[in-house]
Amino acid sequence: MSGAPGTFLLTFDVELIWGVFFDARWRRRALAHFGAVREVFPRLLGTLARHDVRATFAFVGHLFLGSCARVDGRTHPEMVRPVHRHFPGDWYAFDPGTDVARDPLFYAPDLVRLVREARPLHEIGAHGFSHAFLDTDRDLARAEMRAAAEAARAAGVAARSFVYPRNLVGFPEELAGAGFTHYREAGAGGSREMPPRRGPLARAARLAARLLGAGPPVGLPRRVGPVVEVPASVPILPASGARRLVPNAVRVAEVRRGLARARDRGAVFHLWTHPHNFVGGTEKSLAFLDRALGLVSAARERGEVRVATMSEVAP
Ligand SMILES: [Zn+2]
Repeated sequence: MSGAPGTFLLTFDVELIWGVFFDARWRRRALAHFGAVREVFPRLLGTLARHDVRATFAFVGHLFLGSCARVDGRTHPEMVRPVHRHFPGDWYAFDPGTDVARDPLFYAPDLVRLVREARPLHEIGAHGFSHAFLDTDRDLARAEMRAAAEAARAAGVAARSFVYPRNLVGFPEELAGAGFTHYREAGAGGSREMPPRRGPLARAARLAARLLGAGPPVGLPRRVGPVVEVPASVPILPASGARRLVPNAVRVAEVRRGLARARDRGAVFHLWTHPHNFVGGTEKSLAFLDRALGLVSAARERGEVRVATMSEVAP
């Protein structure tokens, strides 16, 4: 472990269709959009390898499975069903109860394997079991945490880090019982609603305002009962739609400021994103990541930051 003052973290929340299956608008384009994650994924790992940067991959627990089945018409009958306003039906109604060959957006043991075989060694954590929101129902939260950990374990992964779906933190004291030691804090903008349908220009303007602001937040890990809360800084957003108008130089400058703040304050600068954020505007987003990790690598060589995964940070 280096004595660098700052810490850099990068986390990928891997969801495929689980983040949006309940939204008909998304389901129509899901195969094209989330199917392309499998093309982007090896390139993300390649970019990490080029800069020798380790990351945390938090998989929706169901993605650890290679298959599942219907029992009396329902999948996972043992699971607690969430009651969410935006989806009043059976939360597992769209779970096909098949396998990765037939429904590759619901299962992803191949992506888990890619991460496990990649070098440098990355961390694999969990992002709920079914991407239900876990901030209001303790029984649901406990069931999701345990099912996610169990699915990971069956795939040979001891998951230590947990990322809450939509960054809606709830019942973190239940995490320890499922074997988790760390979770990512509730990010600004964590929301149970689907993102507002802002126009693309409004979204680009919001991103520009963020990038031109005082600099990304950095923070310190803190102990919450038996587990550690890991600060989150800012998401890496897609470079598609009007957001493509924001030059990479501006995005890279935000990373430079985040690294400097982490160094100056002895704090954690934690970027997080989804592999599907690299679908659409792929070349530009990968070029951004390449430059950002180049800065990380240089800061590490200067002794200003160390690169860690989520379960490696300590208060
Ligand atoms: Zn299933």
